[in-house]
Amino acid sequence: MRGSRTTPQAHDFPSVTAPRLGCVRELDEAVATCRACPRLVAWREEAARVKRRAFRDWEYWARPVPGFGPPDAPLAIIGLAPAAHGGNRTGRIFTGDPSGDVLYAALYDLGLASRPVAAHRDDGMKLYGVRITVPVHCAPPDNRPTTAERDTCRPWLARELELLRPTLRAIVVLGGFAWQALLPALTATGWRVSRPRPAFGHGARAQLTDARSERVLHLIGGYHPSQRNVSTRTLTPAMLRDVLHRGADIAGVAVCRPPA
Ligand code: SF4
Repeated sequence: MRGSRTTPQAHDFPSVTAPRLGCVRELDEAVATCRACPRLVAWREEAARVKRRAFRDWEYWARPVPGFGPPDAPLAIIGLAPAAHGGNRTGRIFTGDPSGDVLYAALYDLGLASRPVAAHRDDGMKLYGVRITVPVHCAPPDNRPTTAERDTCRPWLARELELLRPTLRAIVVLGGFAWQALLPALTATGWRVSRPRPAFGHGARAQLTDARSERVLHLIGGYHPSQRNVSTRTLTPAMLRDVLHRGADIAGVAVCRPPA
């Protein structure tokens, strides 16, 4: 890393630091060092100290969890935030928690992931044409970041979207929180969002245009694969596969036929 990026101060993160980063790898490294939100820093580290009984032998990641997937992905998936004993433990997004089990199984069924289960960051998982990221990179208490924390974290997401822009064609947005967090990040990176803003829903669609190149970016809404949504069958595996399949089709990413 170059001069001014090597010794960033806490107040530089992420609003000053993120726009300077030149590639997704640099962004991922910088995200993982962020301490801009005192409540979330305390929570992620407390979760790592106390641990869950089943994971008492783990050394938790206990840092911000970067996005995962190729930097030239045509399709992005946006979630909410890492889970305290999931991504905050394993160091990879949606990895090691029930939501991730559902998401990676669906991606595997569609041929977009190399393995059906994501266990830890060194398990060999690969994503094909898809990058997963979140608007809040630290685990929040009760899975509920504040609006101030969401807004503080936005420059990381905005820069990631800018870096993905050359190949990005579609985004599957998992949950209303992600939808609300994503729209201003897209606006900040030059995409035109219609007024009134498109509303979130499972299967909702929106098209954004790029003022500079007249390109189109497609958004597809889907319910978040939270334990609650899955256990109440608000979201079934087939429903999740369907929105991911639609996103991949629009993005031009080859998929397998989803199982019946
Ligand atoms: S939530 Fe985002 S801005 Fe806040 S400390 Fe974590 S990485 Fe930094």
